[in-house]
Amino acid sequence: MICLRLRGAERTYNDGHPVHALRPTDLDINERDFVTITGASGSGKSTLLNVLGLLDRPTAGSYEIGGVNMAAAGEKVRGAVRGQKFGFVFQSYHLVLRRTALENVELGMLYGPHKARERRQIAAEALERIGLAHRSHADPRQMSGGERQRVAIARAIATKPSVLFCDEPTGNLDSRNTGKVLDLLRELHQGGLTVVVVTHDLHVASVGTRQLSVTDGRVREEQR
Ligand code: ADP
Ligand code: MG
Repeated sequence: MICLRLRGAERTYNDGHPVHALRPTDLDINERDFVTITGASGSGKSTLLNVLGLLDRPTAGSYEIGGVNMAAAGEKVRGAVRGQKFGFVFQSYHLVLRRTALENVELGMLYGPHKARERRQIAAEALERIGLAHRSHADPRQMSGGERQRVAIARAIATKPSVLFCDEPTGNLDSRNTGKVLDLLRELHQGGLTVVVVTHDLHVASVGTRQLSVTDGRVREEQR
């Protein structure tokens, strides 16, 4: 059982003057939530996602995962939790060009416990699961944006994370491909994954079972 719990968590940048990217925030994300986070550009969405995903540390307050304060934990512990429990998807896919879809998914497991042959097997299964087995040997340059993002999602879920964090996953996609990616995220959520999606697309946001909005670093839960 994993529960993500921010208490008075803040992230302030200091370049000359302080930028309060995330103001003191209390937030619980529970297993099997599908949380969407909306807000204007610069409001603090990515900052919140990065703190939750252990890509960044709060400058004040606590962040407990399963009861352990990760805000104070060392990089080794944070890296282990991030690698074992979390998957990430970003707007621009971050696929390696001149590598096949299969190889890209395998690369995501390079620092995990699996041997090369297992990595290949798991990668093939992940591509199968997202409906892209037939594109396994394609280079990302031969793929549509929607296909690229689905490969990135396959890479993120291959390690069987508990939580999938997505920062503007449909930001570069047309409405048809946005729909495909949303269907996939919904399906993964129904399969038991906790999903956290940053988006400025209100249609994408409406898919969440919980909807948060961020305004000037302040996080608010929308009542539905
Ligand atoms: P969003 O994802 O909603 O567009 P961000 O979380 O990226 O917003 O940024 C929130 C605020 O923090 C913005 O004012 C942004 O300029 C500032 N910010 C983000 N990253 C940095 C950084 N590395 N150094 C200084 N300020 C930053
Ligand atoms: Mg952002």
